[in-house]
Amino acid sequence: MSQPSGSEPVAAATGGVRRARVVVIGAGAIGLAVALQLRRAGVDDVVVVDRNASPGMGSTSRANGGVRAQFTTPVNITFSQFTIEKLRELDRLTRNQVGFRAVGYLFLTGTDAGEIALRRSWELQRSLGVDVQWLSAPEVIQVAPFVKVDGLSAATFCADDGIIDPHGVVSALWAECRRLGTTFLLDTEVLHVAGGEPVCVRTTSGDIDTEFVVNAAGPFARELAAQAGVNLPVTSRRRNLACTEAVAGLPAAIPMCVDNDTGVLIRREGAGVLVGFSDPADPPSMDTAFDPAFLDAIAARVGNRFPFLEDVPISSRKCWAGLYPETSDHHAIIDAAPATPWFIHCAGFGGHGIMHSLAAGQAVTELITTGRCTTFDLHPLRLSRFAEPGSVVETAVL
Ligand SMILES: Cc1cc2nc3c(=O)[nH]c(=O)nc-3n(C[C@H](O)[C@H](O)[C@H](O)COP(=O)(O)OP(=O)(O)OC[C@H]3O[C@@H](n4cnc5c(N)ncnc54)[C@H](O)[C@@H]3O)c2cc1C
Repeated sequence: MSQPSGSEPVAAATGGVRRARVVVIGAGAIGLAVALQLRRAGVDDVVVVDRNASPGMGSTSRANGGVRAQFTTPVNITFSQFTIEKLRELDRLTRNQVGFRAVGYLFLTGTDAGEIALRRSWELQRSLGVDVQWLSAPEVIQVAPFVKVDGLSAATFCADDGIIDPHGVVSALWAECRRLGTTFLLDTEVLHVAGGEPVCVRTTSGDIDTEFVVNAAGPFARELAAQAGVNLPVTSRRRNLACTEAVAGLPAAIPMCVDNDTGVLIRREGAGVLVGFSDPADPPSMDTAFDPAFLDAIAARVGNRFPFLEDVPISSRKCWAGLYPETSDHHAIIDAAPATPWFIHCAGFGGHGIMHSLAAGQAVTELITTGRCTTFDLHPLRLSRFAEPGSVVETAVL
């Protein structure tokens, strides 16, 4: 990915001590969105540090590209609504660099329990202003004629959900950050974060004195938090995606179709179809190599709603894997520990980090500029919840 032209040069390593108002660690979708919203709010001296040579080379580069408001908790729905709107704006601003395509998301279930759960989330989504339709089997066939509707109990469809290009999102966010004067320290690893007056971020390019540090290190957020003595319960799991060879007779644009009963989801990818499945039994892992066993897992499940794919070969060149940085309740953490109020953690977005990125950026910006967030209720994302009884779990985890 090349650097956008006509913008500030990326800051070179200096070896000396710099000063910044805010240091954002991580230049994935989350760190970039935090930096952008900070600059849009007029915060000067924002420095983004990443150990890679280019932004967006971590989990963000492995994403499927789905964006949807069909979640099951208010905070996740509102985070999606905010971010989707901002991504649409960015798409217009950058002449479609974001690659936004409103192909919709279709959720399908054939069980009574699945129908009850889908109805509950559909009612919540509608109460929050999401335009989600409850579809009968004939209506499903109109939207997605290739779906096997035998035994279908319920389906929901939101035409405003869709797909973006993760690399395009990174390019657009990066260009916009730099246009607004954000400094990037790339090829630079954060070695240590220490409190004090001022707070010091020790990096391979020298020390940075600062007021606030934002932990946007994705799968490495736990390790980074530990440098300041904070226990951040973010655990990564490997997730795989596989693309088929060309499929004839399928519309060029199809919705993201999710079989809630097996966990398999599909969407168009070029002339083929991309197939995803997140096995809840997968153990924690930092391995990003594609797992060949994934192909057996999808072969056993794909026929439930998408039998037209059963005999289509997978393209071995188009299979990949990456990490979901997850929490146990499938909600992110946006909070600082009481003893280190200058260290704001913005991590644990699992499989929805891109679609929640700009809302996360807005939330962190308000915490830094006013001490509290009024755009969103961040209570469900507080760090202390993991030590409290009971938890609200997001169940639309794909
Ligand atoms: C297969 C797959 C499919 C997905 N599909 C979707 C989807 O459809 N929609 C969606 O919204 N999300 C999806 N996701 C999830 C999404 O990709 C993540 O939630 C999101 O990318 C997390 O962004 P991040 O910025 O937190 O992490 P990352 O993109 O991993 O960025 C973290 C950055 O921190 C840097 N870093 C870490 N430690 C240090 C350090 N000590 N010093 C310097 N730099 C450091 C890393 O180099 C990295 O660049 C998917 C993920 C995978 C793996």
